[in-house]
Amino acid sequence: MKDLVIIGGGPGGYVAAIRAAQLGMDITLIERESLGGTCLNRGCIPTKTYQYNAKVLHAMRKCKESGITVGDIQFDIKQAKARKDAIVANLVTGIKKLLEQNRVEVLNGEAELINNRNVKVGERLINTRNILIASGSKPAGLPIEGTVIPGVLNSDEILELNYVPPRLVIIGGGVIGLEFASIFNLFGSAVTVIESESRLLNLLDSEISRRMMVYLKKAGIAVYTGTLVQQITAAENGLKLIARGKKDTLETEADIILLAAGRQPVTDSLNLDRVGVELTERGFIKTDRHYQTNIQGIYAIGDVIGGKMLAHVASEEGIAAVEHMGGIDRSVAYASVPSCIFTFPEVASVGMSEEEAQEKNIEYKTGKFLFAANSKAVTMGETDGMVKVIADQDERIIGVHIIGPNASDLILEGTLLVKNHMGVSDLLDTIHPHPTLGEAVMEAVRDIRGEAIHLSPKQK
Ligand code: FAD
Repeated sequence: MKDLVIIGGGPGGYVAAIRAAQLGMDITLIERESLGGTCLNRGCIPTKTYQYNAKVLHAMRKCKESGITVGDIQFDIKQAKARKDAIVANLVTGIKKLLEQNRVEVLNGEAELINNRNVKVGERLINTRNILIASGSKPAGLPIEGTVIPGVLNSDEILELNYVPPRLVIIGGGVIGLEFASIFNLFGSAVTVIESESRLLNLLDSEISRRMMVYLKKAGIAVYTGTLVQQITAAENGLKLIARGKKDTLETEADIILLAAGRQPVTDSLNLDRVGVELTERGFIKTDRHYQTNIQGIYAIGDVIGGKMLAHVASEEGIAAVEHMGGIDRSVAYASVPSCIFTFPEVASVGMSEEEAQEKNIEYKTGKFLFAANSKAVTMGETDGMVKVIADQDERIIGVHIIGPNASDLILEGTLLVKNHMGVSDLLDTIHPHPTLGEAVMEAVRDIRGEAIHLSPKQK
């Protein structure tokens, strides 16, 4: 009998397998496609590889101002795609090796639950003490006429394109939609983003999402908020899209339309119905705080349970679930989960937004600092953006929001501050090296007391 069968080899499942092996469990991991799951094969890694390409293009296009002249800049997406595929293959091999080294048995096939002690894969029936479902998520469809017309793609499919579409329309102004918008804009597409909500990235602090809108427009991306797509049809020269806006009807043409309007859990073929595993109204698996489902011995983690659908959250939940099986009680620090958006400029946040603090009736103060006043950002020629810090009445930092260069790296300091309930004075005692982008975080924190050094004094 196995100690644990894990279904799904994404960042939830494979990380859980390694942690379970460290705890001495005998594990089988079942993956029906490729190890690494969405994150490695169709998500984080392929998009960040393309983001790197886009960054290089961006730097080359403005290198003249640094006195560097290069010839005619050409971009070959076939070559970029080959590089992306090689990077993915390399990282998949790395995970395979790690699982081997940890003596995790990996089976390639589709898992089906028989009951809380038995999992079937192909002809093999595996008897186990515990089951961990980490089957992830997939792109959600949209109830719009015309989404099956060729040229209408989801996020998996757009990563397979071997040409840059001259006109790209993206339905959905959330994280995935905007990352592709920034990338393909720099690859050379004319990009339009259509969002049904009244603002982009509607879970973010509204000041940051308003700035995002400004920067996207500055980069030449057309953005329509409060606009509901109604129909897609084939046109003589590509695709035609009709949407209802706040006042007018929007009609636009595209070569490719990307559907980027959410994700849905993957539970097909698991046989959850027969086993009696409870789901939420939206089809995600319901669990308690230890990731146990209503059926004893069956756990679930990651995108398939909903919540913050991020790779690092799936991994943390996987670790917490197997530690619970091993008798260790550890909870995931959901209040300080950092989230990053790899747009141009990048966005990263942790903790509460100003709107959340207001909803919770928390008295708060804010501190802000613009990258335009940060010397390192000036040397880089990347001055768009700001750091915004939110502190409670006792000056404990409860939220850090960054839009600007390297925001995804800078948020680590914010995560430590929020996770450890640190206060303004903790940071003021911490010397930041000069010249660095991190000084903008320190200045934003100083600004909570009106003591930022590189800001004009506040009027008393
Ligand atoms: P998944 O990664 O989806 O893995 C689930 C695995 O289970 C899959 O490999 C699937 O084949 C397998 N499976 C399903 N059913 C069965 C079955 N019956 N039998 C066997 N195997 C099965 N997150 C970030 O943190 N940072 C990012 O930058 C980021 N960028 C993203 C970009 C895009 C375009 C997308 C789509 C997502 C991005 N994400 C990002 C989200 C991240 O990819 C997911 O949150 C993460 O992959 C979830 O991990 P998981 O292990 O729960 O599921």
